[in-house]
Amino acid sequence: MRTIHKALSLFLISAVSLACADQDSRAVMEKEIDSILRGMSLDNKIGQMILLESQMVAYKNKDYEYKNLMALEEKELSELIRKAGLEDKANAARLIQLKESGSNSASYAYYTLSMALNSDQCFLLDQDRMKSVFGDYHVGALLNMLGTEGDSLDVWNSSISVLEKASKDFNGGLPMIYGLDQVHGPTYIFGGTMFPQQIGLAATFNPELIKELGEMNAYETRAGGVRWIYGPSMDLAVKPSWPRVYESWGEDPYLTSVMATSYMQGVQGPDPDNIDSYHAVTCVKHYLGYGSPDNGLDRTTTTISEPDLREKHFEPFKRAALAGALSFMTNSSIVNGEPGVCNRRFLTEWLKEDLNWDGVIVTDWGDVTDLYSLYNVAPDMKSAIAMVVNAGVDMLMVPSSLEFGPALNELVQEGVVKMDRIDDAVRRILRLKYRAGLFKEDQPADYSLFGSLEFSRKAFHAAVESQVLLKNEDNVLPITGPARILVCGPNANTMRGLNGGWTYSWQGSKVEQYYKPYNTILKALQNKFGDRNIIFEPGVEYDMDGDWQDEKTPQIGKAVAAAKKADYIIACVGENSYAETRGNILDLNLSQNQKNLVKELCKTGKPVILVINSGRPRLIADLVPSVKAIVNIMLPGNYGGDALAALLSGEQNFSGKMPMTYPAHPNAFTTYNFKVLEDRSTTPGIYNYENHANVQWWFGDGLSYTTFKYSNLVADKLSFTPDDTINFSVDVTNTGRMEGKETVMLFSSDDIASGILPDNRRLRAFKKVTLVPGEKQIVTLSIPAKDLAFVGADGKWHLEEGGFTFMVGGQFLKINCNESLTF
Ligand code: BGC
Repeated sequence: MRTIHKALSLFLISAVSLACADQDSRAVMEKEIDSILRGMSLDNKIGQMILLESQMVAYKNKDYEYKNLMALEEKELSELIRKAGLEDKANAARLIQLKESGSNSASYAYYTLSMALNSDQCFLLDQDRMKSVFGDYHVGALLNMLGTEGDSLDVWNSSISVLEKASKDFNGGLPMIYGLDQVHGPTYIFGGTMFPQQIGLAATFNPELIKELGEMNAYETRAGGVRWIYGPSMDLAVKPSWPRVYESWGEDPYLTSVMATSYMQGVQGPDPDNIDSYHAVTCVKHYLGYGSPDNGLDRTTTTISEPDLREKHFEPFKRAALAGALSFMTNSSIVNGEPGVCNRRFLTEWLKEDLNWDGVIVTDWGDVTDLYSLYNVAPDMKSAIAMVVNAGVDMLMVPSSLEFGPALNELVQEGVVKMDRIDDAVRRILRLKYRAGLFKEDQPADYSLFGSLEFSRKAFHAAVESQVLLKNEDNVLPITGPARILVCGPNANTMRGLNGGWTYSWQGSKVEQYYKPYNTILKALQNKFGDRNIIFEPGVEYDMDGDWQDEKTPQIGKAVAAAKKADYIIACVGENSYAETRGNILDLNLSQNQKNLVKELCKTGKPVILVINSGRPRLIADLVPSVKAIVNIMLPGNYGGDALAALLSGEQNFSGKMPMTYPAHPNAFTTYNFKVLEDRSTTPGIYNYENHANVQWWFGDGLSYTTFKYSNLVADKLSFTPDDTINFSVDVTNTGRMEGKETVMLFSSDDIASGILPDNRRLRAFKKVTLVPGEKQIVTLSIPAKDLAFVGADGKWHLEEGGFTFMVGGQFLKINCNESLTF
């Protein structure tokens, strides 16, 4: 161990002089890492590859183990809950009922109680357990919330500094790194700034704004002492029913690449080799192909054609890796029959070798265990570990067992895992820690902007730009003059609905406890239009004590009666919060109660404004014709209610655009870049093979209170070669009466592609501009010609001679590629 200390002190000295040029500082970094590596024992190296949940170092009372709790009678359980003051979090009768019903969620409910009893007010670190985890097992990384929900900035700061110190003290000077899912703001740090979930950020089409939110999230995460953020997600949400749609940037590879990379750069800051005290390391996820499960359910099997995998799903990850993303998390599900976590081709060949990427690949939660306990691809834990490490994984998110390290040690002794592979993994992990600043003194930092007004303004601004106006018949919106408004629906008065999962707790189910300083839609509308003008009668409400899908007995008649006194009806429908697999649903339709509510309200003849507040597009085809206006707010975060009120009143203008196609029917899911045959008019001959895509709204749709006219689409060349960049310009004029922001989108389609059907169209570039009424701007957009290539059945990129059609806001231009290239 002394050698490590020596290497570390040398390292600290050289780390001070990082002012040298990039190459030099890289060389210094690599030299220091080599020197640390040389001083490490095998156990020590393996420990660096192990990632455990923080519960493994927390104080735990044996009596509170969930299995022991499950053995208790109702009376004993109830007494325990009462003594711990947890009555508002747990109910003995309900727990017993769940257990007796044999429901799958019973053990989770008891586990949650066990965590709450153990944390009892605050999270406690256990000195003996830290000594064992860091000292005996040399564990190099920890993750997850401290207990069952978020904690204050102080608890986070003190816990992380104790953990960093304990890991160094017990493990020869090697610091642990702590990782956290800070999904749409500081998920687990109370008082931070919650902004829209990623799907809403994508709808802004505003990468500069998104970069600022990334910076803000990093700032607030570092304020709590945490250096590693699990995100952004870069999965393409191709299946609308997938419960993690809201964590994605939608369905398009280009939009995902641009937005996610910009956000990632905001989090990591300008120099990924030297993350400063205001930035954090990112872990882009879930590599690769997680977002399109065949049956629409989370963590199931996925079939993606090889060309699509390479051309679309890999693209955002590739761009992020090339732009400096420092770590990747694997996909827990199965792609084309192979578990994501042990796909050597994706992990080692595509990412590490082809891109020469030097970051860390970490598994997702329990991925290795799944290989032998669920997927039947490995007979036991040891074989599963070997499969994963040999495929290229560097760190195992175990997360709750100490057995993995010794098993990996045996595998190395037996020669099943080669020492070179271990050294490569550990070198990558040390590099990540070096880059995260863990081997040098932290610069003093001032985090006074944590939870500040300045930050909340940014979150509000993002919420405004994220909301999408999808219908506005007879310009019923904005609501200007004096009006009486009935506000109803289960999402009208809930912060939980506005935020969704990953908010203060994993499932977002505890948001109501912390919502006080923020405004629900109802409160925001009362503030905007005056208390006297708002009538609130929900009609349908969620059962906040039940499963997330549960609704109370509807009171539709009351809402209909209240509508008589109103000039407008704002019906707020959607979903309650959920996260990951627990959000699986079997029917994408909006709940029947909610549909009935809206239908009955429409019958009153009063104009109904439908507000959709959900993590994925719930089907509403039968409501769309009868409501007057539709606003899709998705999951806009803590300032989403205020943003909606500002938009509905016309104080702000809509500029959000759909980041994914909104389906109309359960049997007609598609994406805007479908293959050309999916939408075809009558074919000649005796049979009619006409077919239509039948969607509700397309990717890119979204209205404004003003109108924009496009003219003069021109390009700087009429033909191009693969090395060219094609520069376009188009005139955009605000022809309406209100200032507005317009996202100018440039699409292309390949007139003929040999062998593989061309996509209907593809987004190639976009720019968001602000125009005052009457103003005209010449907007320029560029496309490197190679971006127009497609991946063929041979896995190679092909740019083929022939025509391409370019489209911007209803303007078309045909340009010829006059030289083919395969690469
Ligand atoms: C999720 C990941 C997350 C990880 C750590 C997993 O269940 O799939 O997205 O980063 O847990 O909390």
